[in-house]
Amino acid sequence: MTAHLIDGKAFATALRERLTGEIASLKAAHGFTPGLAVVLVGEDPASQVYVRNKGRETLAAGMASFEFKKPAEISEAELLALVETLNRDPAVHGILVQLPLPGHIRTDRVLAAIDPAKDVDGFHVINAGLLATGGPGLVPCTPLGCQMLLRDYLGDLSGLEAVIVGRSNIVGKPMAQLLLGDNCTVTIAHSKSRDLPAICRRADILVAAVGRPEMIRGDWIKPGATVIDVGINRIPAAEGKTKLVGDVAFSEAVDVAGAITPVPGGVGPMTIACLLANTLTAARRSRGLD
Ligand code: NDP
Repeated sequence: MTAHLIDGKAFATALRERLTGEIASLKAAHGFTPGLAVVLVGEDPASQVYVRNKGRETLAAGMASFEFKKPAEISEAELLALVETLNRDPAVHGILVQLPLPGHIRTDRVLAAIDPAKDVDGFHVINAGLLATGGPGLVPCTPLGCQMLLRDYLGDLSGLEAVIVGRSNIVGKPMAQLLLGDNCTVTIAHSKSRDLPAICRRADILVAAVGRPEMIRGDWIKPGATVIDVGINRIPAAEGKTKLVGDVAFSEAVDVAGAITPVPGGVGPMTIACLLANTLTAARRSRGLD
């Protein structure tokens, strides 16, 4: 069997086009522009690339983009004051503080300071609680993108066995809540799980969010399963170069799975597209339009 490749890049492009149209309609009908504020602290090169891409895509979709670059030495109090200013700013509908933050700043304090209605990363405990209780919160972007890909490919997910490997607050746990909401039978595995291969083999839907290159082997996968590989790992390649691989051994999995997301080009492109979707949702809700 050769698995169907779930093309996250194409899906994300189509989603961005739809959002661009909706943003234009919102402007025409209601005269306001959704705005996303991104706060970057320090000089981390990967974070700088993410923030640049987020700003570029926000503008391309027709939204306003506000970037705040602060030195690594900024105090926690100063950062909290900036968040408070953005909370009060009516032109800002979404606030994203790029992680990780420098060690002297308490990340939980900063995330808790963001107005939950503007928390487009979906990391605030209020939004985590709303997701857990089926309420109308803002959902973390990466699992939201995975759910969109799964619904698009499989249609109704009711009754399917879903196994999620990884229990982080930003991927594994919200992914589990979303699939539970879609009536899957959900198992969350982690580093203390016993006999992980046997757990994975039960899965009709297998989501890998571990951060370990190619850990999930082909013979851990149930024939015909749908595999969502969230992992992004950079490993050494030929001629002193590096390459990106997922948490799933793709060349093995592709012979067993029914469908699989590639790395790159699978889940990754969905994350920023879902950030734009969340910003639009937050903007609409701020005007009572959702
Ligand atoms: P974390 O490091 O926060 O969590 C990793 C999880 O994997 C933990 O729950 C950990 O278990 C579990 N784990 C680690 N080792 C094993 C093991 N040997 N067996 C079983 N479980 C294990 O990572 P994230 O959730 O933030 O990210 C996961 C991956 O997804 C990374 O590769 C990251 O780069 C990628 N990612 C991709 C995004 C995208 O846009 N595509 C966005 C976000 C992340 P325990 O809790 O017991 O320690």
